[in-house]
Amino acid sequence: MYDDIKKEYLDHVKEILKHDYDRYIKALDEKETHGFILNKKKLAHSSVDVDYVLDMFKGKILLEDEGYHYIVYDKDELTRCGIRLGRHPLHHAGLFYMQEPSAAKVVHEAHIEKSDVVLDLCASPGGKSIMSLCSIDKNEGGFLISNEVDYKRAKVLKSNIERMGFDNVIVTCNTPAELNYKFTNYFDKIIVDAPCSGEGMMRKSMEARRQWSKSLVSSMAATQKKLIDAAYNMLKKGGSIIYSTCTFSREEDEEVVEYALDRHNDLTLEKEEKLYPFNYPGEGQFYAVLHKAGEDIGRQRMPTIDEMGDLNVLQYKVDKCEDRHGIIIPTHASTHVDDIHFDNVYELNEEEVYDYLHGDVIKSKIDIKNGYYKMTYKKLGLGLAKAVGNILKNHYPKGLRNL
Ligand code: SAM
Repeated sequence: MYDDIKKEYLDHVKEILKHDYDRYIKALDEKETHGFILNKKKLAHSSVDVDYVLDMFKGKILLEDEGYHYIVYDKDELTRCGIRLGRHPLHHAGLFYMQEPSAAKVVHEAHIEKSDVVLDLCASPGGKSIMSLCSIDKNEGGFLISNEVDYKRAKVLKSNIERMGFDNVIVTCNTPAELNYKFTNYFDKIIVDAPCSGEGMMRKSMEARRQWSKSLVSSMAATQKKLIDAAYNMLKKGGSIIYSTCTFSREEDEEVVEYALDRHNDLTLEKEEKLYPFNYPGEGQFYAVLHKAGEDIGRQRMPTIDEMGDLNVLQYKVDKCEDRHGIIIPTHASTHVDDIHFDNVYELNEEEVYDYLHGDVIKSKIDIKNGYYKMTYKKLGLGLAKAVGNILKNHYPKGLRNL
């Protein structure tokens, strides 16, 4: 199973794990644990409840917060039942987001509060942003800036956040230095889920096995130190950095934290934990929570788009409408935001919903009027259709369809 893992890596991990090494090797042969974040606010808007979800996806609650349930499930059992989670209508509707359990534990330990102003510095594809957004409450002034430096990955991030229907969020594609130039002493919480050598990916990623080297560990550690420095500058007094990696090297984990503590004497370490595939469900993560001393000067409000200045903003909240060749129509994204009102709503039944997600037209069996409809499943928005007579023409974005 792990024949293609480099001997140099195995020696390296043996040195880290010592007497736990055999447990780690055994875990590499065991099957992965899968899970998803279930957004409680969306659940409240839907016509289903948590028991329906647990029953449908054969799940068990692993973590619980006011904003989310984190649920683990057996992927093989779902496959046997013919369920593909990523193609399920409730996934398209943004009720849940798949994320592996140890990554979910990191955000859980960040204890994000409703009114928190949060920066996710290295955010794509978006699991940690989405889990944070479940806890943040826009009605209490909380919001998130979700940043990803790589443009292609930032577009994936934007699409995932859009599907989940959050509108108290700004998605940016900038370097940490560019953000740092704009924001100082600003955020209540900063998540630094740093790029790393990926030692926690050895079970499932052949790429991680191929790319690992001691020099990769060292070069990642240098990048991580720059990231934690940028985060420190953007963090408010009284705020916290949640630093995490999916790797086990001390150089990228404890030593980066020690570096930050040595450089900034107003930082204290509140918690540090290493999750391995043999002691926690999932692939493994390291996380540390660092607190910045000083008097909290109160929460920031969300910057206006003008105040974002030169930053590369990919998404600023959610636009309700767009101008298509001089005609104003609702946006696809707005159908996912539960409190944006639509006059015309069409609830799809069990059969119709798969046709709609496939891109087919829907023949309405009830009376409808001409114009744009928000198409829903279990009361959650999926996308748009344009009614002409009794035909609902499909406007579900081509790139998102189940083909
Ligand atoms: N937090 C994400 C999630 O939960 O879905 C995963 C983030 S992944 C571990 C690290 C991210 O850091 C990648 O998306 C990568 O593009 C980005 N990255 C790589 N080099 C970077 C750098 N020098 N500065 C900032 N981000 C970087």
